[in-house]
Amino acid sequence: MTKQWDHFIQGRFAAPEAGGYLQEYKPMTGAPGDEIARGTAADVDVAVNSAHAAIAPWNALKQIERGRLLLAIARDIRANAADFAAQEADETGKPLKVAAIEVELCAQYFEYYGGLSTAIHGEQIDLGPNYHCYTTRDPFGVIGVILPWNAPINQAGRAIAPAIAAGNTVVVKPSEFTSVSLLRLAEMAVETSGLPAGVFNVVTGTGKETGEPLVLHPLVRKVAFTGSVRAGREIGKLAGDRILPLTLELGGKSPNIVFEDADLDKAVMGAIMAFTINSGQVCLAGTRALVHESIFDEFAERLTAAVQKVPVSDGVEFGLGPMTTRAQYEQVGRYYDVAREEGATALIGGEMPETEGGWYVAPTIYKDVRSDMRIAREEIFGPVLVLIPFRDEDEAVAIANDTEYGLAAGLWTGDLSRAHRVSARIEAGQIYVNEYPAGGVETPFGGFKKSGYGREKGLEALHHYTQTKTTIVRL
Ligand code: NAD
Repeated sequence: MTKQWDHFIQGRFAAPEAGGYLQEYKPMTGAPGDEIARGTAADVDVAVNSAHAAIAPWNALKQIERGRLLLAIARDIRANAADFAAQEADETGKPLKVAAIEVELCAQYFEYYGGLSTAIHGEQIDLGPNYHCYTTRDPFGVIGVILPWNAPINQAGRAIAPAIAAGNTVVVKPSEFTSVSLLRLAEMAVETSGLPAGVFNVVTGTGKETGEPLVLHPLVRKVAFTGSVRAGREIGKLAGDRILPLTLELGGKSPNIVFEDADLDKAVMGAIMAFTINSGQVCLAGTRALVHESIFDEFAERLTAAVQKVPVSDGVEFGLGPMTTRAQYEQVGRYYDVAREEGATALIGGEMPETEGGWYVAPTIYKDVRSDMRIAREEIFGPVLVLIPFRDEDEAVAIANDTEYGLAAGLWTGDLSRAHRVSARIEAGQIYVNEYPAGGVETPFGGFKKSGYGREKGLEALHHYTQTKTTIVRL
């Protein structure tokens, strides 16, 4: 049974003012799914005004009371985890067991930032006996949160929990391909957990029709965007005009460096995880394996053999799910053509599998790849890995940094001195040593270079959702 969903504004569902509805599709079959409201500037205006009106009452609560509400949201997400996971799996195509992990992560964000709400404070600065000087960490006000489709509920928790813990209110624009889990989360937060109406609003629709008016709305004081470099650039231009602060979490083409002294069994499994996780639809995917020349052939052979054992998911168990959107599925196919034109050799994959319905692609590994080829430089956002050999540490670092991105990097080595030495030279926001990926809600996350700026996760995110005010009193 499919359903038609309205926006969620001021604690209740609200029909679109003018825009009608948009169709979602189910990636596992390609069949039509639910319909979502097609938001326009008029809907965004109502939502932002609702969020704006909620700022004062939200900040009238003590920090510990706000934190308690976030903890209630975490508790209620867990109580409804099976439903949320089923919803997330249906919309994104990821296996139910993967969706369940992402729902749990969402709960952890509310738990973590709920617990930290009382740790948001400034400091006293000594200016001598004639002054009393202190800083406070003030909220921005209304934050616009714009999200992609690859991990909607996880990314929602990552942005919304620290934003509201710090006293802001939010208007969230989820991806038009995967909006329903967010609508359900907002509804639950208000109906079950007791979050005051207007603190967490959701307006659905496209980037142009709904996202841009959110960035341009004068009462929005900051935007937290997760998505592509293309959209990040467009938003950056609009925000630049308004001098609007941004957090940009963009794409990646992350290197995974395997040194000759690595535990090869672990490195092979780690490299597979790095490029097949969420079927490669992950910003931090390790899609360039840089392998020392002395072990290159052996590594390539073992990797190719092992990746054949990664099953296509049945929708529940771990394994490769489909691409979440038809456009993404077609994009992966186009990169197979690019790889052929560039002269790369497919060790496995490189062809669209024959499947009935559903946007499934197979894991693909290329060798005979140089760092200047498009398949080594552009984010494909599918399970496609390029293998590039290197001679020594200097060359590994040079190839790793030979990218306009800088989100993550993996290092596989038995020599921890080398791990620290190389980590210091890599231009990326996250370095994973002997595991890929690693970390949790507590570890700051964000990009160098075109992978973006600002940080999500960890204590740092709280700083990015507050602005420091200094008060200097002459006594
Ligand atoms: P996208 O950029 O096409 O869309 C992301 C969101 O932005 C959607 O909600 C979309 O409607 C909206 N949008 C698009 N154009 C807009 C505009 N001009 N103004 C306002 N909003 C606009 O990205 P996607 O295809 O949904 O997601 C895939 C991309 O996201 C990949 O590049 C991936 O690397 C990136 N991503 C990054 C992270 C991270 O944390 N760094 C995490 C997940 C995904």
